[in-house]
Amino acid sequence: MSSLLSDQLATELRTINAMVHIYCRAHHSISDELCDECKSLVAYAETRLDRCPYGQQKPACRHCPIHCYKAEPKAQVQTIMRYSGPRMLLRHPLLAIRHLLNERKPFPEKPPVNVSNRYLRQQATKSSPTETQ
Ligand SMILES: [Zn+2]
Repeated sequence: MSSLLSDQLATELRTINAMVHIYCRAHHSISDELCDECKSLVAYAETRLDRCPYGQQKPACRHCPIHCYKAEPKAQVQTIMRYSGPRMLLRHPLLAIRHLLNERKPFPEKPPVNVSNRYLRQQATKSSPTETQ
């Protein structure tokens, strides 16, 4: 899966992607391919992670004071996590344990300044203008 994200945020997207696959396989899709709706949900999650003001220090979304998801994708993700969360331990134990540990991390009072993945990406592009994305 190609992604704008790196490190912690990339791992988080992999976790979401794995959960969506488990759910989609059980509810929508008859192959290993995600259905269109689930594909766009993963793409939406990637955009949100890219713009998350907590950047690489982001704790788990569940306790976040910023509600950056719109109502509809938020409800979809909650349904998917409720179904796939327990199943993740069998299918992707490392991602699952990491996700559970992350949920215990406290949230900083205020997001740090200028650490979102998108901001850092744009800075990197600025400092090397000849490089293409
Ligand atoms: Zn689906």
